Amino acid sequence: SKGQGGNHYSFYTAEMGAQAVEHLRMEGALQRALQRQEFLLHYQPVVDIGSGVVTGVEALLRWQPQDRAMVSPADFIPLAEETGLIVPIGEWVLLTAMEQQVAWRQSGLPPVRISVNLSARQFLGQDVAQCVAGLLARTGCDPGYLTLEITESVLMENPIAAAETMGRLAAMGVQLAIDDFGTGYSSLASLKRFPIHSLKIDRSFVMDLTQDADDAAIVNAVIALAHSMKLNVIAEGVETGEQLAYLSKQGCDQMQGYHFSRPVEPGRIEAMLRAGR
Ligand code: C2E
Ligand code: CA
Ligand code: CA
Ligand code: CA
Repeated sequence: SKGQGGNHYSFYTAEMGAQAVEHLRMEGALQRALQRQEFLLHYQPVVDIGSGVVTGVEALLRWQPQDRAMVSPADFIPLAEETGLIVPIGEWVLLTAMEQQVAWRQSGLPPVRISVNLSARQFLGQDVAQCVAGLLARTGCDPGYLTLEITESVLMENPIAAAETMGRLAAMGVQLAIDDFGTGYSSLASLKRFPIHSLKIDRSFVMDLTQDADDAAIVNAVIALAHSMKLNVIAEGVETGEQLAYLSKQGCDQMQGYHFSRPVEPGRIEAMLRAGR
């Protein structure tokens, strides 16, 4: 801004000041949200493509402020990451999902696989393996029915640390999934060194699958290569019967998406699980 005059400069600082104030306001709001227990989990069913059976659920964080509309995680997770609040929030998510798994088991349902998203800072900046071990012991959650999802970009940010943490989690019997696969420019071959169980094909590829030959080719290649590496493949964001039919023909293992169900509150998932669909 040098040489552009004092007005420009003061406008600039006022703008930055407003941003900083908004940042602090949101940070305070997130901190209070934790204390006031304004967070909740919704669950989206993960469906076996062959049988149509719900094989598990993904836990998705929601923020319901007392007197305002529900806030989407896309709108507050980046800030929670920046401020470090993602650590206590993420711990709450893990605890709540594990307690839910135990509650469903105690209510007589067959075991339900619960998938939980881990953010970059949670996964790389904190001893997440120790945290998970502590919560498993505290809740009695079955690690064999817990999946932790991390994005491809988090893996590639620090592959050595990621492999070490994943090794410790896998040793506890927890399964690991790569989320948003295809968006991070890593090769499937580079995944070989990580103890991964599943790949989740990003919604952006599934969206245009039936119109865009390139996306279809990418999806076919990911499914084929993943299977050759003995990985389970889940398609995200399946919205239409045509997409489902295509994925089924290509041998994709599971799917999630509005075609089957949006993320819903725990009671509604429980009803689906009881109905066996
Ligand atoms: P994600 O892990 O890729 O989750 C899938 C997102 O796609 C969810 O958005 C889900 O509601 C949405 N979705 C599912 N099926 C469809 C579909 O058929 N069509 C469309 N258009 N969307 C679909 P949501 O719940 O808003 O979450 C957004 C992102 O926020 C998640 O993306 C994840 O990265 C993050 N997130 C959610 N919960 C948590 C959490 O507990 N911890 C962390 N670290 N991140 C979370
Ligand atoms: Ca996910
Ligand atoms: Ca995803
Ligand atoms: Ca995504």
